[in-house]
Amino acid sequence: MALLSTHGLVARYGDFQALYGVDFEIGAGEVVALIGANGAGKSTLLKSIMGLLRVAPDMVQLDGRPVGGSQPYRMVASGVAIVPEGRRLFSGMSVADNLRVATDHAAPPHGEPWTIDRVYALFPILQEKQAVPVQSLSGGQQQMVAIGRALLNQPRLLLCDEISLGLAPKVVREIYQSIPSIVERGTAVVVVEQDVGLARSASNRLYCMLEGRVTLTGRSEDISREAIGEAYFGAS
Ligand code: ATP
Repeated sequence: MALLSTHGLVARYGDFQALYGVDFEIGAGEVVALIGANGAGKSTLLKSIMGLLRVAPDMVQLDGRPVGGSQPYRMVASGVAIVPEGRRLFSGMSVADNLRVATDHAAPPHGEPWTIDRVYALFPILQEKQAVPVQSLSGGQQQMVAIGRALLNQPRLLLCDEISLGLAPKVVREIYQSIPSIVERGTAVVVVEQDVGLARSASNRLYCMLEGRVTLTGRSEDISREAIGEAYFGAS
């Protein structure tokens, strides 16, 4: 059974329909990439899963149970955490305090829990900078704090929205290199990623979206560049 799945997911912003019947799933131990042009609906899919947009209960299922439209804090308590686009850290607070906040709202740990020390082991630079206010960190270091904060929610599923956006290639590599350790600890990962090559190499499976629909899905290693090109831009 899938850890999390969506079924004919429809999402709207007022009168504007952003998703048209999206079927998506991720199993335990998987890394799934979501690709697609700006406005394709990738963030909307994550927000719908997380309870940040109202959707019908059956449209999102966790462990086969309907959770669509649940409050975000309930999704966190059920083991789903998000690294939001733009990071949304608590400015003015230190690295350590940004991390501590997350431990207050965590899901019950499964297996060995994430601790602040484990986050520091994953991203050693954060230990060095633990007393530093987050706004004086580099973009990449801030992204590490955002990932660490989400991990301290003890998620079984981590949703990452464009974690490489605006970062230097070296730090992007460093951040993506942390994903296998996260998965090893029992957390499945969804990455929304603009860089198609990176998305493919980092994931087991991928979904391509276009104008609110899934246009391609399959094992990342089996999907050709040509198929991705068509699914990304639409068949001409
Ligand atoms: P991006 O890479 O730009 O984040 P995306 O694939 O994540 O792209 P979404 O942000 O999910 O796309 O947007 C899907 C559609 O929904 C777009 O047409 C966008 O303009 C629209 N949209 C997103 N957020 C809102 C909002 N708050 N109100 C109205 N429309 C929105």
